[in-house]
Amino acid sequence: MMKRKKRLKFKYKKVLLIIAIIFVLFLIIKPKGKEEIKLGDVIPSYQGKNIIELDNFVKENNLLIDKKYEYNDEYAKDLIINVEYDNNVKVLISLGQIDKEVYKEKNVNELGRVPIMMYHGIVDTKDNKYTGGNVDKDGYNRTSDAFRADLEFYYNSGYRMIRLSDYIKGIIDVPLGYSPIIITFDDGNKNNFNVLGKNADGSLNIDPECAVGILEDFKKRHPDMNVTATFFVMDGLFNQSKYNEDILNFLVDNGYDVGNHTTIHADFTTISTTKTQEVVGKMYQKLDKLLHDKYVKIIALPFGSPYKKTHENYPYIINGDYNGFNYETEAALRVGWEPEVSPFDKDFDKTFLKRCRAYDNNGKEFDIESVFKNLEKNRYISDGNKDLIVIKESDKEKLNTIYENIILY
Ligand SMILES: [Zn+2]
Repeated sequence: MMKRKKRLKFKYKKVLLIIAIIFVLFLIIKPKGKEEIKLGDVIPSYQGKNIIELDNFVKENNLLIDKKYEYNDEYAKDLIINVEYDNNVKVLISLGQIDKEVYKEKNVNELGRVPIMMYHGIVDTKDNKYTGGNVDKDGYNRTSDAFRADLEFYYNSGYRMIRLSDYIKGIIDVPLGYSPIIITFDDGNKNNFNVLGKNADGSLNIDPECAVGILEDFKKRHPDMNVTATFFVMDGLFNQSKYNEDILNFLVDNGYDVGNHTTIHADFTTISTTKTQEVVGKMYQKLDKLLHDKYVKIIALPFGSPYKKTHENYPYIINGDYNGFNYETEAALRVGWEPEVSPFDKDFDKTFLKRCRAYDNNGKEFDIESVFKNLEKNRYISDGNKDLIVIKESDKEKLNTIYENIILY
């Protein structure tokens, strides 16, 4: 028995020795696994290399990357100026030397004008009683076919949509050579967002002929249009109380914004300052309850009134209190005629923005045709980089001096 135990012990020792040898060999010849790569050491070594190489490394290792771009005289286009690793990869990529010839060629003009289009109802009618796509005498409501044609026209004319809430902050993110356009809808007409019912999966069955139905269809066919719009609603929202929350959530989840048109479509020139705060504050409060912080603090002035900012009610449109609910309006829209100035223009006033009526009038009186014809003279044309403001040397005086990262050409 003793002998056998001893032999067993001996065998056991032998096995241990073999395991130890294998382990040492493994340590020596083991291939370097991904977990062995010290990202903090490896990643900075990509400085000076092409971003494609780093992109590949990032992809292979399932890392997050945060890219920033700048024009640079030393590093050619697409080369990495600087790169760091700190939980994710932070990289600064060169856009190469500024090519002012490209600006000239594309006629880049970031002090040009931006159209903020004003729509109301979208009506599916083939009854063309009025001029062009107008559904009523003044063209406040538009046929669904005309609205589809408008979107195609904007797209084909080199316009790309931006959010109103970005425009007022000076964020204009459209590609080089393209121009921004903003779409707005007032009044919360049912035909802006008409729900036909719910699909089996619980999602909304949206009428393809209503404004959002048409916008969503356009989005699928033209992903680069960056489809978005701001809807200015009243107490009845989209007049389908059963779907209030579903509709609002669909809008904010799909890149649209919801703003304030007062609870009762109030004419601010006919009410008291107390009532002003009620119709504005109550509407914000309602949106706040349904959407928390996901609505925009922007007002479309009903009837475009008051016409002057000097009106005694005006300060209460911007700032006020309703039953202890404080509000601050970031921007206010008028019923206007011509496109607005660039947010970088020293005359830019986000609290009194003009809009263009989306209607037809045979190319007269600031209808769609005349607005876009006039824009050919002074439209905003992007350099493709939202962090840089590229303007013509001759426009220097028009620039708001609070901005940095200016390139003159
Ligand atoms: Zn209205």
